[in-house]
Amino acid sequence: MSLYQKKVKPYSDTEICLICEKQKPLGIHLYHSFICLDCEMDIINTKTSDQKYQFYVRRLKQVQFNEKRRQA
Ligand SMILES: [Zn+2]
Repeated sequence: MSLYQKKVKPYSDTEICLICEKQKPLGIHLYHSFICLDCEMDIINTKTSDQKYQFYVRRLKQVQFNEKRRQA
């Protein structure tokens, strides 16, 4: 139980980005996850034919999957 609590947001004003896994103060919330501004811009600017785009899509699908499990 105490282990879990340590993982919960160490700072109230920053969150861990889902994509780059870095602590960033600015970003958007997607479901219960956080995507930093840098990654958001990256996703927007990445062409769907780019291999990097597939990486982002997989990450985002993971979020939806986690969300469904939480609701079940
Ligand atoms: Zn990021």
